[in-house]
Amino acid sequence: MLNIALFGPPGAGKGTQSEFIINKYKLFYISTGDLLRKELKAETYLGLEAKEIIEKGDLVSDEIIVQIIEKTIKENSDANGFLFDGFPRTYIQAYILEGLMIKLNTSLNCLINIDVSEKESLKRLLKRGETSGRSDDNEIVIKNRLEEYKQKTLPVLNFYKEKGNYIKVKGEQNINKVTSDIDDIIKNELSKKLLNIVLFGYPGSGRGSQGKALAEKFDLEYVATGKMLEDEIKSNSKIGKQINEIYESGQLVPDEIVVKLIEQKIANSKNSKGFIFKGFPRTLVQSYILDGLLKKHGSSISKIIEIEVPTLELIQRLNNRSKTDRCMPYDTSTDKIVQRLKDHQFKTIPVIEKYKQLHGVEIINGVDDFDTVFKKLANEIENGFKNLK
Ligand code: AMP
Repeated sequence: MLNIALFGPPGAGKGTQSEFIINKYKLFYISTGDLLRKELKAETYLGLEAKEIIEKGDLVSDEIIVQIIEKTIKENSDANGFLFDGFPRTYIQAYILEGLMIKLNTSLNCLINIDVSEKESLKRLLKRGETSGRSDDNEIVIKNRLEEYKQKTLPVLNFYKEKGNYIKVKGEQNINKVTSDIDDIIKNELSKKLLNIVLFGYPGSGRGSQGKALAEKFDLEYVATGKMLEDEIKSNSKIGKQINEIYESGQLVPDEIVVKLIEQKIANSKNSKGFIFKGFPRTLVQSYILDGLLKKHGSSISKIIEIEVPTLELIQRLNNRSKTDRCMPYDTSTDKIVQRLKDHQFKTIPVIEKYKQLHGVEIINGVDDFDTVFKKLANEIENGFKNLK
């Protein structure tokens, strides 16, 4: 999701710029001013309660705003993202917005402040008042609206400055220049979004070779925890020695170590377009860990793909592999092969089931030859990139 808040004094041009943004980026537009005017026109309870306040140019209570905004967001939770105009307008509303975003498992990308002086704002509103037909576009009310803006709305900026997602645009340039400045900001936000793919499949389904090839083609970071553990052992690092000892004692590598390695990998991939996770999450606990790791970086899982191959075909493939130089240490006996298939069935299938219920899982038939399966997977990833925009 792409979520943007447009900020600025009355008359800054938020409405005008919004039209461009929602058309180009297909966002759902939420103007609390428009929503309130609709309630007013329909003479609803909320509308009647807000009427006098709006006509005076004061701010409507946060309680009323929560009700109208929560309803609109809930009804449109499948949107590409939201563009907020005229919200948040108080420090409290900034917290409300945080809460609403968490509920949708997303966050506000940035707040764009269209910076316009009080004098210019007053001039523009008086001019608009000649034709707008809005009862609050007359001089006395306009002055009060600007006063409310100074007293109650400007402090909102500190909230976002402290959070680090505040961006200012010079609002007194010509309209097209303001539009192109805003467009640049949004493009930049989109380029920061990561495509995170979780690739599932039984051992032998081809998830490893496909995952690696996909990461290369799409310039994504390939995160294969099994390989990362092996590399640590080979490099003889401190963690590597620890892992080796655990392997030798026949125990499972604890999640703490795997998490540390993934954290390192993410931290070292600052310019990455996203990640393909293979072999992680393997358990329900690890699925919660992955959510947390990505959230820490303001990101989340974009797509989950499962490569499906019938069990007999899997056994045949693993058995064949064991006779080639691609033989993995865990392919060397029937016992080991069966154990790995069992592990997947008992520990990882519940994770896939959880994802099926939460996000949906794309199932790809993995029985075809490598190139055919690769094409189908690549198609899923291309769609993933499109949906990020
Ligand atoms: P606008 O169309 O954004 O200029 O809003 C018109 C009027 O609606 C404002 O002067 C306020 O009285 C009220 N209003 C709109 N949005 C909010 C908000 N987020 N919080 C409080 N009052 C609002």
